[in-house]
Amino acid sequence: MDPATRAKIEARLRSSDELGLGPYYLDRAPFHTAPTETPGGISSRPEFVASVAPSAATPVASAATGRVRVPVFASATKATPAAPFVPVAAGPSLFEAAERIEGDTLEKIRADIGDCTRCRLHKARTNIVFGVGNPKAELVFIGEGPGRDEDAQGEPFVGRAGKLLTQMIEAMGLRRDDVYICNVVKCRPPENRLPEKDEIATCSPFLLRQLAAIGPKVVCCLGACAAQTLLQTNQGISRFRGEWFDFRGSKLIATYHPAYLLRNPSAKGEVWKDLQKVMAVLGHAGKRR
Ligand code: SF4
Repeated sequence: MDPATRAKIEARLRSSDELGLGPYYLDRAPFHTAPTETPGGISSRPEFVASVAPSAATPVASAATGRVRVPVFASATKATPAAPFVPVAAGPSLFEAAERIEGDTLEKIRADIGDCTRCRLHKARTNIVFGVGNPKAELVFIGEGPGRDEDAQGEPFVGRAGKLLTQMIEAMGLRRDDVYICNVVKCRPPENRLPEKDEIATCSPFLLRQLAAIGPKVVCCLGACAAQTLLQTNQGISRFRGEWFDFRGSKLIATYHPAYLLRNPSAKGEVWKDLQKVMAVLGHAGKRR
């Protein structure tokens, strides 16, 4: 391996370790739920459901029996003992750093971001990707950061992974503009690398303000970065995916990122189960307020 490539890989691994993402990349084995189709049931349903849903009549865990728990991992009852909970960042938490602002709105937050140069991600971006959707959405999806298509268009989740997310939303009986979609960092990390710890720390207060302004019933983290950032953990996402947490007045659930599903279609069944839990909590159909 040439030295430049080796240095690049080492930097990425170092960044992953700092963010606590290492376990996620090493811990992919357990997802193999194969969807089963009911006779004649799925051809007329949205593409995502058609590709993953076991059955339209599959029982959905009710909100009452959903495991809404805080704190995050203290009471985890896993067959395999979880690694010790370790906060991502030392010092004041993101939540202490981002106090709620009375009367905050998405417009004010966007205005405060301005032509932001607060972290190094501004250098290579084309557009700040703030977020889109219903400002009073009951459901917010949060990804990691903009990719190439998102950077070019200034809108989150518009590439291949975005198309899959749209299918997932429609499979839930919603439209894309019923929900709100945003990312942990608002500018594209170069070459689609993971956002680094200091970049997340700098940009996340805007995300927290967005969530406070919207006040959703459910926050759905797409992938390890969003989940680990909001839950302040370095646990691998497979340890807590599909579990409910209380998060600043909302219920929070983490599931796999659509980009992961593009690479690992067999995980779609697991994601569909998570989305069914979300639908149960929304009491469907998560309509526009
Ligand atoms: Fe500013 Fe966030 Fe972009 Fe960094 S990622 S430059 S903090 S908007």
